[in-house]
Amino acid sequence: MDEQTIALVTGANKGIGYEIAAGLGALGWSVGIGARDAGRREAAVAKLRAAGADVFGVPLDVTDDRRVAAAAELIGERAGRLDVLVNNAGVTGGMGQMPTTADLDAVRTAVETNVLGVIRVTNAMLPLLRHSASPRIVNMSSSVGSLTLQSTPGSEAGPIGAGYAPSKTFLNAVTIQYARELRDTNILINAACPGYCATDLNGHRGYRTPQQGAAIAIKLATLPDDGPTGGFFDDAGVVPW
Ligand code: NAP
Repeated sequence: MDEQTIALVTGANKGIGYEIAAGLGALGWSVGIGARDAGRREAAVAKLRAAGADVFGVPLDVTDDRRVAAAAELIGERAGRLDVLVNNAGVTGGMGQMPTTADLDAVRTAVETNVLGVIRVTNAMLPLLRHSASPRIVNMSSSVGSLTLQSTPGSEAGPIGAGYAPSKTFLNAVTIQYARELRDTNILINAACPGYCATDLNGHRGYRTPQQGAAIAIKLATLPDDGPTGGFFDDAGVVPW
């Protein structure tokens, strides 16, 4: 019998992350529900288990070195390896940060979670990913991070902002650098755009469901060994950088 695939989804207690975990659970995988708040984490674990998914709670604040190290230890003790990491946790830091008047704390918050959090978690999980036969890393980005769309008049690149959108551009750049460094390994790492989904992040203004947003992350989490790495994708295909 094939070994059960082990995945970790960060920020999996709600929104798109919850639906990514549900989708990976439906494949029969064992899915770590990474979440910082114990109550919200256990509620999500209970709901997913009730739906038949094999999930386990992973206390995880992506901005906290110690908790991230402890999360890697927990997965290591439990499974000895990690096959799929979905870096989904994200915050806006506060939308509407016009560059000329930006609150630097808001910008810092976006970068701390959306970029440094991804690097912190990825590097903590890499030793476990290296034990996998087909490791995959998915970074939940956004089309608002696309410099091509941002600089094309009339494109749908979201509101002007010095924090959230540039943090996703930074995340895209980091994704490319990981892919370059890991090119000669079996690790595939890609960035995903879920589209504009109705979640707490945007006051539920999105026109897609979180489940629809989860689909591209699930696709990139299940790439074949000859799949792409260092790319940026949404449901329609390649997103311009
Ligand atoms: P959401 O409903 O607000 O969920 C965000 C998740 O991230 C929550 O589980 C949250 O946990 C978690 N999180 C935030 N900071 C964290 C931290 N420091 N440590 C651990 N977990 C943390 O938002 P969403 O819309 O599902 O967003 C998921 C991802 O998709 C984000 O990266 C977002 O930027 C991206 N995205 C969303 C959209 C959209 O239209 N919704 C579009 C493009 C990209 P708590 O419950 O504890 O806050």
